[in-house]
Amino acid sequence: MSKFPSRIVRYGSPVLKKKAAEVQKPFADIRKLIAHMKRVMVESHGVGLAAPQIGIPSQVIIVQSPKKILGFVNPKIVRKSIEKSAEEEGCLSIPGIFIPVKRSLAVEIECETSRGERVQIKAKGLVARIFQHEIDHINGILITDHLGLRNRWKLRKALKQIRQ
Ligand SMILES: [Zn+2]
Repeated sequence: MSKFPSRIVRYGSPVLKKKAAEVQKPFADIRKLIAHMKRVMVESHGVGLAAPQIGIPSQVIIVQSPKKILGFVNPKIVRKSIEKSAEEEGCLSIPGIFIPVKRSLAVEIECETSRGERVQIKAKGLVARIFQHEIDHINGILITDHLGLRNRWKLRKALKQIRQ
């Protein structure tokens, strides 16, 4: 049994709208949290997860890369390509809703590993998109915040039903 929550919090929950706290050293329990979040993500068939999505307001994210699932602490985007594309994205906290989101095609991330080592990561394509989605989460931003007013109006009923 894990001491961390396994339930994914939904759209409308205040924890999803707040900026998550930076994790302070030493990173006690962070490896356990990351292992737990990986399990929750896999069980939910997601490709990324941010700690606020299980109700933990900390800057920890999980990213599915082609080879494996990785966990990162205190991630920040330090560079992003000017070139962008819009692709439909879903979110485990907003089930059944898909929203086109314009994102940079490539990003550079500065973050820490679960052991507290500072690393820089270059990502492109889908992995770059997942990083941007999850880093949005730790800044309290959801895919619905990328909606234009008209589309937000169109989706209002569906979103109201999901709202926690
Ligand atoms: Zn999400």
